[in-house]
Amino acid sequence: MRVHVVGNLCRDTSLAVARFPVPGETLVAEGSASGLGGKGLNQAVAAARAGAPTTLHAAVAGADVAALAAALAGEGGLALRLVGRDLPTDTSTILVRGDGENLIVSATACARAFDPVPDLGALGPGDVLLMQGNLDPGRTRACLAAGRRAGALTVLNPSPVFAEGALDWAAVDVAVLNRGELAALTGCREPAEGADALLGRGAGAVAVTLGPQGALLRSGDDTIAVAAPAVAARDTSGAGDVFCGVLVGLMWRGVATGTALARAVAAASLSVTRAGALASCPGAAEIAALSLPTLDRNVP
Ligand code: ATP
Repeated sequence: MRVHVVGNLCRDTSLAVARFPVPGETLVAEGSASGLGGKGLNQAVAAARAGAPTTLHAAVAGADVAALAAALAGEGGLALRLVGRDLPTDTSTILVRGDGENLIVSATACARAFDPVPDLGALGPGDVLLMQGNLDPGRTRACLAAGRRAGALTVLNPSPVFAEGALDWAAVDVAVLNRGELAALTGCREPAEGADALLGRGAGAVAVTLGPQGALLRSGDDTIAVAAPAVAARDTSGAGDVFCGVLVGLMWRGVATGTALARAVAAASLSVTRAGALASCPGAAEIAALSLPTLDRNVP
């Protein structure tokens, strides 16, 4: 029994910029860093560091499989199921502004070509299937349906966001998304209203991240809200992935929902004080030692 993250693995390049460029402009970066990332890998690492044995299923260039596996060999609790494709490994370029805000462009050929459904036969009750928005929508839908049939808990972070009607929300036990993604999917600017719209489409529970305001989780008539600690934000890239991975890892462990939500918020808020996406994810000991923000239960 483990967390199965079915998603993408990228080579990330982060560029520090004083401001975002305007159309037609070439901007000189103030600094750069490169490393591995991708929402699938970021969330898998966060889940493993939250204490859940985790497998990442992802497609990468065939020629890169051995090197990527070697680069990630030291990540405790993380197993890899990398499928080699005759395509370039996916990449992301992340512009990070001085106030920590980011802008990302990704190439997702491998993720779009990845058909993980045949690999998911071993899923069963006690497993969690965690997916994001980088795979083909039809395959994402098929994987979630397969996870549901197998009795796994299904979690979807629809980022990048899917086209209206591409998904069957009734196959999603927990949806995790930020305020903008929720608004794009439901047309609701108000998080509780947007969450209710997804619950109405069949999702079992909806967790909404609210940047510096923290996060809320809504299921049925129950709403839990957690305010984020005040921090000096340096780079918010990957914060949503830390939140999602830690929440899922703790849910797999059976940690009470409110405590899992508070720890996920605290871990994500710590990550924004550091540079990088995957590089900013707190370590296992740090996640275990976080002091937790207070819960508000049944807020409107
Ligand atoms: P990203 O796309 O940058 O990875 P996101 O848009 O998916 O992030 P957010 O809602 O911005 O997700 O943030 C996720 C979590 O990160 C929040 O719930 C909060 O815990 C933390 N966080 C983000 N920004 C801040 C901030 N300025 N101060 C404190 N915590 C923050």
